[in-house]
Amino acid sequence: MKLQQVSESCFAVLNEKNRVCDANSGLINRGGGVVIDTQSDLFHARRMIELFGKVWPGMPKRVINTHEDGDHVWGNQLFGGAEIIAHRTVPDRMKQVADPSETRKLLKGADRLLSRLVLGATHPGALAIAKQLRQDYDMDGVELALPTTLFDERHVLDLDDTEVHLIYVGPCHQVGDTIVHVPKEGVLFAGDVIFRECTPMGWTGTYEKWLRTLDLIIWLDPDVIVPGHGPVCGIEGAMEMKAYLEYVREESKRWFGQGLTALEASKRIDLGPYGAWRGPARLYLNVERAYREFRSEPPDAHWDAAKSFDAIYEVAKARGIEVEF
Ligand SMILES: [Zn+2]
Repeated sequence: MKLQQVSESCFAVLNEKNRVCDANSGLINRGGGVVIDTQSDLFHARRMIELFGKVWPGMPKRVINTHEDGDHVWGNQLFGGAEIIAHRTVPDRMKQVADPSETRKLLKGADRLLSRLVLGATHPGALAIAKQLRQDYDMDGVELALPTTLFDERHVLDLDDTEVHLIYVGPCHQVGDTIVHVPKEGVLFAGDVIFRECTPMGWTGTYEKWLRTLDLIIWLDPDVIVPGHGPVCGIEGAMEMKAYLEYVREESKRWFGQGLTALEASKRIDLGPYGAWRGPARLYLNVERAYREFRSEPPDAHWDAAKSFDAIYEVAKARGIEVEF
């Protein structure tokens, strides 16, 4: 993990490995201090606090969660007494999609022979992701600390004459998606609306909303974007994300029209430059999302996570690339 200053008062802690759950965090070191997203486990959260401690003494008074996924909220509990701010949907969604006990069970299963055998036989992809997560993360002691301040469309913080704008943009990648804009310093914390040098994983939302959000970011024209995953970038990060989503939707439409399943299409779509991104087989999720839209299914249709990871595993195997999430 490394600390990077991105403007006068804005900083990022970046998880340079850039695999699944390697999320970034942000800090605005004024007006009491604001942390944006809190990492995937207590070890990483403590390391993030230590790094931010170099540029902000004491614990920040506020935390913002950009959405409900575990890799952005599992360090919340270390900010005791802080105001935790998120979109109104986030507390309920956290209980649904970021239950630490579920992930703990998955990780422990990957460690015990019998459950490993059962899991490996029925869900090779779920076993593979559990093994990968075990290399990097330890869920022991993680408890949900839910947001305490909820907002609907917009929320503005005034940090000693520097405004911070929280803009609700979901559901595009998840239900609670929020971007955090610091206009005075030309900085935008994008959460998982932008993945950089790694394949995006979208769950609940629509392509249309996601593309519109990227247009909004391009219109806001920040000098610096801190993505949810991957290195800090400029506006080109939003443009590349947009190009990827448009490409995958277009290719999915072609194969959908020819009657192929999302899994088969994911094995065939030419990855082009995106093959160099981390976790290219995660493409499956984006193809499946497109297929759901072509079939007019609701954007919040249920995902069977184990089956989805199995599909990603199968796509990687079929393409002869490393199984990596
Ligand atoms: Zn994430």
